[in-house]
Amino acid sequence: MFLVTDIYYLCRGLVQTFYHLFKPSVTLQYPARRWEMPERWRGVTRLVVDETTGKGKCVGCYLCARMCPSQAIEINTLEGPDHEKEVESFEVDISRCIFCGLCAEACPKGAIMLSTDYELAVYDRSGMIYEQEVLQQGPVIKRYTK
Ligand code: SF4
Ligand code: SF4
Repeated sequence: MFLVTDIYYLCRGLVQTFYHLFKPSVTLQYPARRWEMPERWRGVTRLVVDETTGKGKCVGCYLCARMCPSQAIEINTLEGPDHEKEVESFEVDISRCIFCGLCAEACPKGAIMLSTDYELAVYDRSGMIYEQEVLQQGPVIKRYTK
C-alpha cells in the first residue's frame, strides 16, 4: 500500500516538474539584465529641476524635512539678493530613508519625488548621503560587470 502511495506522489511531483520546465522563466539574470520598475515605484529620492529655468524647484520651506519620519533630510537655506530664501544645501541620507514618500506628499512645489532607481549599494557609507547635485541628476550607479 505504501509503495503505491509513494509512486503516486513521485509521479505527481514529476508532472509538476515537467509542467514548469517548459514555462517561460520569471527570474532575471541580474545584473546582466535589470528590471524596469513600475512608474509608482518608490525608489531613491530625487529633487525635481524646473525645465524652463534649469534650477531646482525647491524653495527651502523645510516641510519635507519636518514630515520625514526617519529624519533623513537636512536642508540649509540662506537669504538671497532679493531677500528671498535660497537653498544652500539639501542632503538626503539614503541609508536612513524608508521610501515612505511622505516628503513628496508634503512638498507644496512638487520639488521632491521618489524615482524608480533601486540600486543603492555602495562601498562606503558616506556615499549614501546624497547632496543636492546628486539628488537632481540621480546617482551614478557603478554597474557590476564580469
Ligand atoms: S521617503 Fe520618507 S524616509 Fe525617505 S526622505 Fe522622504 S519622508 Fe524621509
Ligand atoms: S517641501 Fe519641497 S519645497 Fe519645501 S524644502 Fe522640501 S523639497 Fe523644498
